Amino acid sequence: MNVALLFLPLLLGSPGAPERVRDGGLWFEGRRIPFSKLPTDLPAALRALLDKERPFAEERGLRIYAKAKAPVVVISEWGESQTLKHFEDAEALAAEFTRFFPEPKEPAPLADEEIDGADPSTPFPLFLIQTMPVYTALAEKMEAEHEYLKEQGWAARAANLQGFHLYRPRIVVCLSGTYGDPRHWVLHELVHVMAYPRYGRQPFWVEEGMAWFVEDAILKGVFGFCYRSNFLWDAEKSGWSNDFAGLLRKDKPPSVLQLASLRPGTYAAGDSGVKDPRALLAYGFIAFCSNERRGEFLAMMSAFAKDAAEVGEFEASYEVPVETQRKILEATFGPDLDKDLASFAGRIGKEASKPKTPSKAERYPGG
Ligand SMILES: [Zn+2]
Repeated sequence: MNVALLFLPLLLGSPGAPERVRDGGLWFEGRRIPFSKLPTDLPAALRALLDKERPFAEERGLRIYAKAKAPVVVISEWGESQTLKHFEDAEALAAEFTRFFPEPKEPAPLADEEIDGADPSTPFPLFLIQTMPVYTALAEKMEAEHEYLKEQGWAARAANLQGFHLYRPRIVVCLSGTYGDPRHWVLHELVHVMAYPRYGRQPFWVEEGMAWFVEDAILKGVFGFCYRSNFLWDAEKSGWSNDFAGLLRKDKPPSVLQLASLRPGTYAAGDSGVKDPRALLAYGFIAFCSNERRGEFLAMMSAFAKDAAEVGEFEASYEVPVETQRKILEATFGPDLDKDLASFAGRIGKEASKPKTPSKAERYPGG
């Protein structure tokens, strides 16, 4: 498949400041209806999700947007047009997911079969939150309902972030006021959460590489940085494909095997926002897998998920050990992986290079 085929034509909109709504209610298939008027043949998983989220939403005047076949139920404090844009992004992502990433042939190895996410077609909630008390209440509710979060004192940590996503249960929450375009942030988190039931737990660099790859393809740039701990420069947002190609043209390009040691919060951009080579490499390697090595891509993810399920159980911060990752990479892709990746980079590097945007630092807390 050609790289260009993955650059999907989707409508772009400017985010603007979200207006606050306080009149709650349910919108089903685009129409406001009372809960009692929901169709009787609603998919059981959707009905269960609506029943579960309804009390929290009603108590706080949040609006609930649902569709019978959508991958998410959106529960929002944000203005309607902005909310619907995120809903469309989620639907588009679900519809195109198997173009970006190969469809697994067997269920993912997961540590805990009781999670809701074992079936990728089960909808999950996307919360778009405007006010801190609602955000804090939601984080505390998640912690109270899930023992493994309690043990980690998770809600207090989440309160310092601009949003969060979880795999058990699957949920994406974005608090408005993030710097930059929330569409990037939400789309990025949706990739993580949609990937989980399909492929299981992956090393940090695989998860980030996948989300960056989709962000760049759909929104023409990369902005949702779970990887950063401080500032995002304008120059870091665009030109990923060309910068990846340029990186691999260097005399001593980095090896894919170095990705195994990538950890959150260690992103190292240059002073003028020159991208961290490891982030470029993760992005480019996933693009390579998506375009040219889909069978190996699946085999690699299955091996990573198997280790995570068996050894890591469901430890949120578990990473497949560096040596194990390297063995899996070499066993799956063979000894010429770096050479093959360089030749892929050479092919996409023939695209015309884009002008760089002016450098400007912008605060962007990760999530
Ligand atoms: Zn991420």
